[in-house]
Amino acid sequence: MDQIRPLPLETVTLTNGMLLALQKLVRDKVLPYQWEALHDRVPGAAKSHCIENFRIAAGLAQGEYYGMVFQDSDLYKWLEAAAYCLAVFADEALEAQADEMCGLIANAQGSDGYINTYYTIKEPEGRFSNLQEGHELYCAGHFFEAAVAYYKATGKRLILDIACRFADYLVKTFGTGAGQIPGYPGHQEVEVGLVKLYEATGNSAYLKLARYFIAQRGKEPFYFDLENQNPAYRDIFHQAVIHERTYAQCHTEPVKQTEAVGHVVRALYMFSAMADLARLTGDPALGDACHRLYDSVTKRRMYITGGVGSTAYGESFTCDYDLPNDTMYCEGCASVALMMFAQRMALFTGDGNYFDTVERAFFNRVLGGISVSGTEFFYVGPLQVNPSACKCNPGLAHVMTVRQKWFDVACCPTNTARTIMSIGRYALGEDGDTLYIHIPVPCRVQSDRFHVEMQTQYPFGDTLRIEVMDREQRIAVRQSGNAAVQELRVNGQLVQATLEHGYYHLPALKPGDVVLVKYALPVRYAVSHPKVTDNVGKAAVMRGPIVYCAEQADNGEGIAGLRLPHTPSFFESEAFWGNGTVALAMNGTRAVFTSGDELYRDGLPDWEDAQIKLIPYFLWANRGEGEMRVYLNVAAADTCAPHSI
Ligand SMILES: [Zn+2]
Repeated sequence: MDQIRPLPLETVTLTNGMLLALQKLVRDKVLPYQWEALHDRVPGAAKSHCIENFRIAAGLAQGEYYGMVFQDSDLYKWLEAAAYCLAVFADEALEAQADEMCGLIANAQGSDGYINTYYTIKEPEGRFSNLQEGHELYCAGHFFEAAVAYYKATGKRLILDIACRFADYLVKTFGTGAGQIPGYPGHQEVEVGLVKLYEATGNSAYLKLARYFIAQRGKEPFYFDLENQNPAYRDIFHQAVIHERTYAQCHTEPVKQTEAVGHVVRALYMFSAMADLARLTGDPALGDACHRLYDSVTKRRMYITGGVGSTAYGESFTCDYDLPNDTMYCEGCASVALMMFAQRMALFTGDGNYFDTVERAFFNRVLGGISVSGTEFFYVGPLQVNPSACKCNPGLAHVMTVRQKWFDVACCPTNTARTIMSIGRYALGEDGDTLYIHIPVPCRVQSDRFHVEMQTQYPFGDTLRIEVMDREQRIAVRQSGNAAVQELRVNGQLVQATLEHGYYHLPALKPGDVVLVKYALPVRYAVSHPKVTDNVGKAAVMRGPIVYCAEQADNGEGIAGLRLPHTPSFFESEAFWGNGTVALAMNGTRAVFTSGDELYRDGLPDWEDAQIKLIPYFLWANRGEGEMRVYLNVAAADTCAPHSI
């Protein structure tokens, strides 16, 4: 069997439903808004200066560099999202904007191929002198991803050629040979970019450099110590945590690492590259490391929402089962990176079960990063919010209770946009002759090999209808851990298919055949391992991959006092956003504090009947500021089993 690979994005056209609504939101609102934000034309939003930095570096404007050292990556991720948009929607105006940006990036490139506006404008002599903090290679990785996406979407080679010139320069610059820098990036990302560039061009030097960056990391003598001792070294962030070896996963060689530690986005971009390299090189030690690290993340250090990062300190992993609901970090980029890692594990192993994690992260934390208006964003992803505490407790200062217009560090909004726009690459795949349905999406797939129409309301509807339009087709449907396949029918007849690596392979299909897949989508309670101490006695409500939450907008103040009934019995209605999203309601109870305003009183609370309303977590904070909670109290069983003393 050939390896499974993503379907080319231009062969997948979403036809209706929530995901199409989200892609139109990105096309019509998010990308134009971000274009304005990057040009500093949004009143009241944090200043970006990103485009202006490129104009100054290109010699088209005068001025000083402004912004974070990694500001260039905001444009690259916008360009990547625009490329995916152009792959699925024709849009001349957007393409003209993107072409203009490609020209600008070309003008900002040095004669040797180097591109980075911070160092070009601010510190031309300091190039690669601070790999630990300088983010030149991080920005390069996002540029390579954008360049490949734009080339694939438009066929225009300019930006790909610029990327290759830059990558060629990196190939010459980095390594353990004479005159080369024996270093590696402080923030991983260049590795996944180089792999994409290799796959787009076939130039094995790019794959070799990606492999070098992973292999060299963590070796002794420790490169960042050598760098710090260089008289030319200049500290950028002045944060002690950055110099901890675990922060950037340099404590040991990646292939020897057993647990996910340190800055989450760095870790997960690195793990993604390791899974790419395990697939492309067949290196068993890398593959083993990927399995260990994937288990460390998803079995012990991941939130039910697919959020990752238990602390704001270093935006980091902490230890097993330490998953606080209110002080966590759960950056949007971290869950995008988790989707990337899980997808790459599936492509590397051929095992569909990894897409359970892709779904969990996408339908909850990733989509939760963007407002239904498309113009406001979250960076941090709490599972529990008390706005008054967030305003007065410095330990919660990083938790925003309302979505923001933009950020000083604006990595997440563009990352969310590129992910929504490329969901077709996550949802569908192919090998030599089979179409793989990893995540049901309503769409038309039309390529040289496949032509099918798919209808579904998933994740809010429980059926998938696939119609074969022409030619014989082979289709494999993933068995989901979030919504189990209950029934497979072809032309009304039940089909018994065996499960292989997480997929049901249907019999050969011919034009006109109709496949019906029935999924189990009960509303269910999900509890945490008891070592997740915040959640003991509480449950989250889920349906398929969707995590629900209670908001003040529906339930009034004091949602911590809500108590779900022992047996989940829910009523459905359309959620306020529409687009097929479903809200839930049930008859529960609410704790009543009857004794006035004493801080403490003896005894237990009284409970009064209360209708509890829940919305999908990703829709939270779209109706003003208020309390929000994923984990709620659950009533004890109505009757206890008899027991003797
Ligand atoms: Zn981010």
